[in-house]
Amino acid sequence: MGYYILIVDDSSIIRAAVKKAIEMSGLDVAAFHEAANGKQALETLDQQWVDIVLTDINMPEMSGVELIERMAADDLLSKIPAVIVSTERSRTRIEKLMAMGVRAYIKKPFRPEDFRDVIGAILAGS
Ligand SMILES: [Mg+2]
Repeated sequence: MGYYILIVDDSSIIRAAVKKAIEMSGLDVAAFHEAANGKQALETLDQQWVDIVLTDINMPEMSGVELIERMAADDLLSKIPAVIVSTERSRTRIEKLMAMGVRAYIKKPFRPEDFRDVIGAILAGS
């Protein structure tokens, strides 16, 4: 058992911080995958089993918004829960993403319990 988690962020420091927070949260993780933008995330999703996607919004090459749009338009990928991890404060932008199927929004700076609560609830219910 354990979850396969894809962390998408253009900052390797933030990806490492997300990973550490999830490790500290006590969630049962089988493996982490990492991607630096939406394009790399889609490549990973094509090749690996992923239970949940945690994505930043602002990234070069392909943003989190475009990643969410592509996932929503795909039969298989639309079934994988996606969570935004961002400093984004725009309510309209967040609401637009939620309307596209994003399950939750974790604000940076985050705490381990944010991941425990959000990921735990989503994956327990799926
Ligand atoms: Mg970024």
